[in-house]
Amino acid sequence: MFHTVSFYTLGCRLNQAETAVLSHRFGDCGFEVVDFDRKADLVVINTCTVTENGDADTRRVINRIRRRFPGTKIALVGCQAEVQGESLLRSAQVDYVVGNGAKMDLPDILRQNGTETPALLLPGIEPALFTIPTCESDPHHTRANLKIQDGCNFFCSYCEIPYARGRSRSRDFDDLVRGAEKLVQAGHREIVLTGINIGTYRHGDKTLSHVVEALEKLTGLERIRISSIEFTTLSDDLLERLAANGKLCRYLHLPLQHGHDRILKAMNRKYTIADYTAFVQKVVRRVPDVCIGTDVMVGFPGEGTSHFEQTLRVVEELPLAYFHVFSYSDRSRNKSRTFPDKVAKTDIQERSRILRELSNRKKAAFIDRFIGRKVLVLFEQEKNGWWSGVTDTFIRVQVRSEQALHNQLLAVELEKREGLTVIGKTL
Ligand code: SF4
Repeated sequence: MFHTVSFYTLGCRLNQAETAVLSHRFGDCGFEVVDFDRKADLVVINTCTVTENGDADTRRVINRIRRRFPGTKIALVGCQAEVQGESLLRSAQVDYVVGNGAKMDLPDILRQNGTETPALLLPGIEPALFTIPTCESDPHHTRANLKIQDGCNFFCSYCEIPYARGRSRSRDFDDLVRGAEKLVQAGHREIVLTGINIGTYRHGDKTLSHVVEALEKLTGLERIRISSIEFTTLSDDLLERLAANGKLCRYLHLPLQHGHDRILKAMNRKYTIADYTAFVQKVVRRVPDVCIGTDVMVGFPGEGTSHFEQTLRVVEELPLAYFHVFSYSDRSRNKSRTFPDKVAKTDIQERSRILRELSNRKKAAFIDRFIGRKVLVLFEQEKNGWWSGVTDTFIRVQVRSEQALHNQLLAVELEKREGLTVIGKTL
């Protein structure tokens, strides 16, 4: 029988949000939840499959657990479990592989069946409205994640998320507002709305804009942040809320993926560079000082030097504050794995390096616009007497303080930039 359980999360914010909920569920079912660094009867690894790095990370974590805690049982749950199923059970030599359709039921299943629990749980994913019937708080994050949506219908050719997480579905509107209320009661001042494709949120006539409107009414909640969102799903209504300077953070992460229309088409992205550029310019006009970040992929099949150079030009010219750079990799289900003209690993590495350097330069330039100004910072953690937190525009700020600043939203004057961190003083 299992008594103690610990967790390890790979991948995106949604996985983090789900691990927090799962950990509560295990607690409700009578398990003792312990830190990952402590020996537990069972370790649950919430996996990611977006790139091949996710698979390698899973292997690394398994090896670490095997070395440190021989005899501990391991359960792989989440996206990699969903798409690789039985082969993962064999190759990773773990005790349980549990897909996205069953992971939230795992504590109940284990409680009922103990060590007789089937090693492979892959019931499939229902594309229905969902609730998250659990007491929520997000103990490991000052800025709490709130899951509002799951799955995706877009089928970008490089992506296997629609297979790993199923079709787009939304969280019951009242249920998510209740979830947000609980997070606020637990003391969280910022909520980050998470999902796979959150702009497609729908419950009846309720959209993402209604979600933000409802959360803005919660007393005690100071900030609402939208995690990554496809710009094609971002409504004028939502843009107006952003421009209104209420609780919605002046921050948008709008995946671009590539700077060349031919590659965008092969990726099955439904827009052109001109569309993206026009949208970003509209946002910048409406929301001064907004922080816009993006995702860029390098090494998609057929990406030649000229395609890459155009991407470089596009992201350099756009008013972007930073970009996350992803290396293309074939996945077990993505359509593009069959595409010809694969790009050499060395080219992918070099292109990533160039883009990351450009991103750092753009981030530094974005930060420099704020030096000397007064901003509000939500403080998260302390290290060696320095407290660190973020502005609504996602600039990381450090101040020296003897006092505990955790979860405080304080006015700070930004004095200077050191690398990509800003040093400031509280006012
Ligand atoms: S929008 Fe595209 S990249 Fe994003 S999850 Fe859906 S299929 Fe994947």
